[in-house]
This record gives sequence, C-alpha cells and structure tokens, in this order.
Amino acid sequence: MLRIGALAWLLAAQIAWAGDVIRLKTRTVDPAHQSRAPRSGAVVWRAARHFLVQFASYPGAEVRDELARRRIRVLAYVPDDALMVSGMPPLHLAGLAVNWSGPLDPADKISPALAALPAGAYVVVFHPDVDMAEARALVVEEGFEILENTGLLASQLLVTGSSGRLDGLAARDEVAYILPALVDLLTGERVMGCSGPITEAGLLAEYVAVGRGWASDPGGGVALRYFFDSVPARLEPNLARGEIERAFREWARYANIGFTPANQAAAARSIDILFARGAHGDPYPFDGPGGVLAHTFYPAPPNTEPVAGDMHFDDSEDWHAGASVDLFTVALHEAGHALGLGHSDIPGAVMYPYYRLATGLTNDDIAGIRALYGSPGATQPPAPPPAPPAPAPTNPPAPSPPVGGTDKTPPSLRVVSPALTITSTFSATIAVSGTASDNVGVTAVKWSTSAGGSGTAAGAVSWSAAVPLLVGTNVVTVRAFDAAGNSAWRAITVVRH
Ligand code: ZN
Ligand code: CA
Ligand code: ZN
Repeated sequence: MLRIGALAWLLAAQIAWAGDVIRLKTRTVDPAHQSRAPRSGAVVWRAARHFLVQFASYPGAEVRDELARRRIRVLAYVPDDALMVSGMPPLHLAGLAVNWSGPLDPADKISPALAALPAGAYVVVFHPDVDMAEARALVVEEGFEILENTGLLASQLLVTGSSGRLDGLAARDEVAYILPALVDLLTGERVMGCSGPITEAGLLAEYVAVGRGWASDPGGGVALRYFFDSVPARLEPNLARGEIERAFREWARYANIGFTPANQAAAARSIDILFARGAHGDPYPFDGPGGVLAHTFYPAPPNTEPVAGDMHFDDSEDWHAGASVDLFTVALHEAGHALGLGHSDIPGAVMYPYYRLATGLTNDDIAGIRALYGSPGATQPPAPPPAPPAPAPTNPPAPSPPVGGTDKTPPSLRVVSPALTITSTFSATIAVSGTASDNVGVTAVKWSTSAGGSGTAAGAVSWSAAVPLLVGTNVVTVRAFDAAGNSAWRAITVVRH
C-alpha cells in the first residue's frame, strides 16, 4: 500500500501533547507526581530489564531509531507518549526528552478483573522479547501449572494455580500482565486471539487501558466513514460487506458514533478495510491460515492519518458468516479497536483478547465505548439491554487418530461427571469421573486443583476421583498419561459456596 509508505513523512507532522499521564488498566500514572523508584521497592528496579519510558511528545520514528541505535528495544506503545522498552540498565536516555522512566510496578501487572472475579486459571502475558522456554520454567518455579493450548497468542501461557501466588508471579520482570482465563481456553476448544490494536510505534500491550479515541466533531458526536479497499477472496462480496457494516452498526447502537460509506480510500477520519495476505505494506505482515486473523490501527492520535482506524484482515483465513472463522465476530472486535478501545479483561466480552462467536456487544463493551463517546444522541431511541455473553461450549473436540511411527498421540480424555465445565456445589469435595483411551495404553489419570491439591484417580480407562475444594472458585485439572509419556488435559471450574 503506497499510502502507508508515506507514513514516515507524516510522522513529522504528528501533533504532540506534552505532560500527560500513562494509562494503565490498574491506574493512571501521573509522571509529574511519580518518583523514579517503583512502589514495591528497589529489588524490582535492580532486576528489571523492561522499562516504561515516557517522552515529552509522541516518540516518532527518529526517537525509535535512536533507541535502536542505543541497543534499547521498543516492545510496545503505551498511551500517552510512552514506550515499553527492554535494555540493560542504566538505560542511556540522555537527549531524548524523556519525562519519566521506570519498571512496571508488579501491582500494575495483575488485572483488576481478578479482584472482582476470582479465577483459578490465568492467561500470563510475557513481554514480547522473553524466551518462552524461560517463561515456562519461570511459571513452574512460581508454583503454577501450565495448560497447553495451541491456539494461544505468542508470548502468552495458560496456567492454573492459587491466586495467593499471583503477587510472586507478577514480581518477575519477564511477566507483563496476568488476566483471568476465558472458559473456552480451558475446554480444549480451538481458540483464536487478537494481539491487540496497533500503532506506528508498536502494539498496545495488555496492561494498557484505553486511549483517547477519536476527537469529537463540532456537534459532539463522532462521524466516521469507511471504505472497502478489497473484499475477501472466499466470501461473497456483498455478504462480506454486510457483515462488516453490521459490526459498525452494533457499536453505533450504543454510543454517540456513526458510520457512513466513503467514496474514496485514504480519507481522514475514515476506516479503510483491506483483505490481504502476507506482507501488505505495513510493518505487520500476516502469517497465513490461523494465528493472527486481523489487525487494526488505533485512531489519530497516536496514529496519523490516513492509516488511523484502518482494519486489515488476513485473506488466508477461511472467512465465513455465522461460523468460524466468523467475519462478524472478528470485525466487531476489530471495530472496537478502530474506535480506540483496547482489550477487556472480562472473559466473554467482545473486547477480551480471545474471540468467541459473537452476536452483539456485552455490558462491559458498552460501558467501554460509552466512556469514550457517551450514549447515542437524544434523537435516537434508548438502547435495549445488551444480550448476555453466549454460554461456553462444553464438549472438548475428539483428538486426532494415531498417525503411526514413534507414538506422539496424546490420550483421549473425557470428563463425564460433572457434565458442565463450570459447576457449583455446597460440598467440600466433588466427585469427578470419566473415561480415557490411548493407542499405546493409558498409564495413569491424575488431578490437581488451583488450590494446590493433587492426586491420582482410581482406574484409567474408566476413572474417578474425589477432589477437595476450597470455598470460592477452584479450577480442577485432570490429566491422562500414556505409556509413551504423552498427556492430555481437561479442566473444570467448580465454585464452592
Ligand atoms: Zn484485539
Ligand atoms: Ca493468519
Ligand atoms: Zn496491516
């Protein structure tokens, strides 16, 4: 795309806003009133390799090139005007008009949603330069168990363990953020994630709260336009356009925003929609089927026009309407980014980092968009109450058949009782039972809980266990092992009243 090649020139015209706050999900940090030492003490500072650096104005390409020259790697953009970087301390930042720099406080790495919503399974997000073999070793060292899930985003692990150990995990410099795990991640269902909205200075990290959104029009609302640069190869063009327009309308139902078609590409305050494969003119090439499905540029500022708000879809995906990979679901989430929303930590929200088949926005999404733009204008009827999130799928998929040669096939494992992946009880134990099978034989079925309990189930092909529960949320993980050392897991969430 030629217009993206012109970005370097446009950066020079970037309007700066100086002296602003850093918008984390946990709190808003005012660097003017922030000491250079983190709240949790100097130990963190000494061990840190990851630092937030806030500049006096937007860190343009010249600043980022200079950081690279000084061997400081830019990992993410953090509103306003800050970058997450990695480098050996002390960082050489002289002459770069730096307002403030320091490591993330461990308390800022724990999702506020975990306080309100006790979990037992978590998505742990690492800084993008962290070696994932080290990341795995580190979470085990901190007392958590890793649940393998092939659909996870790069730099993320799904773990289960006691909430009492989260502070220790958050204190590790490699860890960027910890949020509650969506139940879909625990069922073994195929999941697909979004790595976040993008800016010219990098991705927005999971610990970042929403930016400022689009500035309002003189009338008070925000009227955006959209233009289809291309349509998907494998979906009927009118259907594809209709699904994306339906996603825009869903946001416009709940906030003071509107969308109308544009008659040309690359207009200001306009969302250009592109379906492309591989490299397509920006620094974020697509990766073929699976992995990244789409990405969206944040509004201006911090992005410059005309790329601000643009939505790019990977045309290697098998796009569908009403089934996976569902264009409406992905477009609804990406349109949230085009409007300036970051990710939500509430499992089930449209803006949660993992997509789930969506029919509309949830309360959390609506609260997010109204915080930026307010409710729809008074001339429109009041919005009906939003639909609750769809129930979680409960049946794990059947494993693939053996392929021969050295046995790599994990056992097939089913939890028969309890029948649901989320259940509740008044009792101090829960009876869990099911079946397991394997081409070379099941050797053992073991269980563990997020509270720290573990044991071996009676039987193997047909197994059962009485699992002790603490009051509150317990994630019970069952693993079946075969004679070749392969394993498969299933998890259930049990709330004890
Ligand atoms: Zn996203
Ligand atoms: Ca892809
Ligand atoms: Zn792109």
